[in-house]
Amino acid sequence: METREHVVAPKKPILTPKAIIHQNFGNKACYVVEEVKEVHQTECPGLNIPQMGPCLYRCTLQLPELSVISGIFKKKKDAEQSAAEIAIEKLGICPETIDPTPQEAQESLVARIAYIFSEKFLICDHPLSGHIRATLWREGDLCGLVPLSVIAVYDAKIFSLCRCINPEVESDPFLVISYIMRATANLYQFLATSERHLWIRRQSPYPQDIIESLMKEDDGSQECIQVAAIRIPSSVEQSIEDLTLHISLKEYYLDIIANELGFQDAANILISRSLGKASSETRLFFAAPKSYLLDLYSNFPNGKETLYFKGSLNARASYFAGQNIIGDAILATIGYTRKSRDLFYEDVTVRLYYRMLLGKTPGGIYKLSREAILASELPSKFTTRANWRGSLPRDILCMFCRQHRLSEPLFSITCHPFNTLSGLSGLSGSCLKVAESCGNVIESVNGVSVTTPKSSDSELFKCEIKLFSRRGDLILQCSPKDCYKKQNDAIQNASLKLLSWLNKCFKSMIVPFEQLCQTADNFNIQIYYENIFTDIFVGQSTHNGQLDAIQCNKLVESIYRNSSCDMLGNIVNSLKIEGPYSGVCPCNGSLPCIRYSVSLAVEGENVKEVIEVCDEFEFEVGLGAVVFYIEEVVTQMSVGQYAHFTTNLLTSDLIFASADDSVKMPSLLSSNCCLEYEISLIKVTEPPEERMEQALFSPPLSKQRVEFAVQQILESHASTLIDFGCGSGSLLEALLNYPTSLEKMAGVDISQKGLSRAAKILNSKLVTNSDAGGQWTSIKSVILYEGSITNFGSQLHGFDIGTCLEVIEHMDEDQACLFGDVALSSFRPRILIVSTPNFEYNVVLQRSNPPSQEQEESDEKTLLQSCKFRNHDHKFEWTREQFRQWACDLAARHNYKVHFSGVGGSADVEPGFASQIAVFKRDWKLEDDVLKHADEHHYNVIWEWNRKIE
Ligand code: SAH
Ligand code: MG
Repeated sequence: METREHVVAPKKPILTPKAIIHQNFGNKACYVVEEVKEVHQTECPGLNIPQMGPCLYRCTLQLPELSVISGIFKKKKDAEQSAAEIAIEKLGICPETIDPTPQEAQESLVARIAYIFSEKFLICDHPLSGHIRATLWREGDLCGLVPLSVIAVYDAKIFSLCRCINPEVESDPFLVISYIMRATANLYQFLATSERHLWIRRQSPYPQDIIESLMKEDDGSQECIQVAAIRIPSSVEQSIEDLTLHISLKEYYLDIIANELGFQDAANILISRSLGKASSETRLFFAAPKSYLLDLYSNFPNGKETLYFKGSLNARASYFAGQNIIGDAILATIGYTRKSRDLFYEDVTVRLYYRMLLGKTPGGIYKLSREAILASELPSKFTTRANWRGSLPRDILCMFCRQHRLSEPLFSITCHPFNTLSGLSGLSGSCLKVAESCGNVIESVNGVSVTTPKSSDSELFKCEIKLFSRRGDLILQCSPKDCYKKQNDAIQNASLKLLSWLNKCFKSMIVPFEQLCQTADNFNIQIYYENIFTDIFVGQSTHNGQLDAIQCNKLVESIYRNSSCDMLGNIVNSLKIEGPYSGVCPCNGSLPCIRYSVSLAVEGENVKEVIEVCDEFEFEVGLGAVVFYIEEVVTQMSVGQYAHFTTNLLTSDLIFASADDSVKMPSLLSSNCCLEYEISLIKVTEPPEERMEQALFSPPLSKQRVEFAVQQILESHASTLIDFGCGSGSLLEALLNYPTSLEKMAGVDISQKGLSRAAKILNSKLVTNSDAGGQWTSIKSVILYEGSITNFGSQLHGFDIGTCLEVIEHMDEDQACLFGDVALSSFRPRILIVSTPNFEYNVVLQRSNPPSQEQEESDEKTLLQSCKFRNHDHKFEWTREQFRQWACDLAARHNYKVHFSGVGGSADVEPGFASQIAVFKRDWKLEDDVLKHADEHHYNVIWEWNRKIE
């Protein structure tokens, strides 16, 4: 077997300029490429129509702090790389690949610090210059004292130099302060430091003329700004609360923050790396513990352990920041930028805090991308791109990695040439079915959108994902066995698999680690033990190992409590569904669109606070794409109906993340309140199969199947009918409308949902809306049973006619065979009608689908190879030959005759009928003693109707 490796990203990547920009700015980097058309006139002198030259491109790269324009290039991507390169140069970002040696870095660090305190730097626009200027307006002794922490965090160059000296600073950014201290010692003639405080000051003041010109610039700004921030107390018992920073522009904002933390001035305030979206100014501010200073001066750090454990670790803040935060912390978005001399600030609310926390979990990233925090869940399967809502799995995974300061995930695609398919061993049955037909191997991928390959030499793709820490340690590897026709499907599915497992980890953080490893196996995931907790689950704090991981993740766990269905059981209270039953209901694979609102309501009082509303929310049924009880309710509704129910209050975290008003919430939450849900079902988009059958056939294919059954009933004078796999009873209901010889009908299905729908429809037809109790029909009794049609139930023995329409393809192939045997050996109807899709007809169906952008022109054969199943719940779809084989063998085994027919299309025109039908007939009489079954099995009766006898 020959396989080729496509590695999407190399393992130790030499970073392109774009990649470097991405590392630094994430999705805040915005590339806009424009076409530059140049008129050139050289080719045809005398031609009076201006001729366009080749299309050229120019790219504008917008970053939060600056925007650059590339030169002109023939290729878009070259323009983008060029723009990125220019930006890197301007920003002084030190690309990791051309690292100086530690020795060189140390020298550069000294030079950089000297430069930072130069006059030139003071007047330039740099986040750090803003701080230095602000310290000059401070009163008295504090004038000109620049906090060390500010130098450590606001100059990217300092950080990257320190990283060259010691890569540990990546996980322990406060080491930077020590390196600055040490470098500053070399500049003692120029700069002064303090023994007891963390600041640096110039020995000699800045020249008076510079100060004066700066004064002039800043003049007149007497106003006071108010910045909303939050306090995250060190003690987990204390709740997170809002606070307001009042900053007059003549004050240094860091002093105000220090005051809030109980300190006189900013000297000992430490600042976290920026949080949330890349390059945002959202940071945590907290006070350096006294021991920190002692450590800093007594023994110069050689390992991080010495530094931080003498203070009390703020677990919430540390988890949030992915670095050690000590004592109470303030979260605020405030700072200077390159763009303007003014202080930049944005409000930080409790809501934002919870949203950011939520954004650290795979399910949370998904929820945020759908703007539906209380309703949506990360789906369990990627069926089709068209049905997926919210961020795509791959993007969520990339976001997750960024959030946890991991390297970008590495996707490796293995590509298996199509012609070696039959030789492949590890192919999963779930996404790939192989069928033999006329010597051709026919292959299709279930439920996945597939592009027709241009070359007839089609290929299959598998995707493997590796997650690495920033330092390059392998943390996780996910190697699903499933193959896909499209590279992108392989990537999305593998991403979702990895995300689903990670999500499970976040949900069940309390379980022992060993158990996690066991679950990982089921997801084809390999864990590299030492690293996973430190890198993913506690950010970068390594000290206390697992204990800490568990403690911190209790915080995240509470965010998930609302959604884990296994432990909650029945939580929906006083459910009311109102409005007439229209019969249009969501089923597996369909896309219901709902309008909903969730409110906090205080029981017995007239208090109601809406926390989440959505006017149009669409999701795919059957994948757990919404909290389970919402799906439970919606699948009981029909279009036009309205549902109302309440649940107990499960967790306050999600509520804080959704609710706009975090001020009212705490008091509401502490009163006796519940969550109140209101849902309207606006419309249902049916799965592609149904849509196709409705749109492409007239009358619709389902109606043609009913008419086919009616014809058989009339010819055979059958008086009893059993519908195997009756689903929501469409056949039974339709048969009520035809004059036939039938007197008794029964339906059996394993799906309770289907059965209850069938019951509702039949009930409204026969009981509620019926004039004269169903007098218009000859039928005297209708009964619905629950059970699997692969088990014999004696109630269903001896019916004249059995129907099994579009059911067998929903069962595994061996189960379908089992059904055939049970039906003809035990149920033994005189006639059995079995219909199932003709796979060969899919070419027609899928070509006449509104062309998706992904489809390309191709010849018939490759088109067939690329066809999808009609419905992602189908376990197989047979060609005519396969169906014939199954039916002929079955008939022979049980002494039935079989003939073939179908609906949609024609037997004589390729590729045959759309729905192929086998009609089995028994032309011999049953012996009376035929029912000698050792263990009599009875199906449960779900619903029953009998004509009243007058
Ligand atoms: N015959 C119906 C429904 C087809 S959908 C129609 O033509 O509209 C397929 C149905 O088969 C579903 O309702 C599903 O619940 C049912 N089904 C699948 N496996 C089954 C089994 N082993 N026993 C009984 N019903 C089954
Ligand atoms: Mg079907």
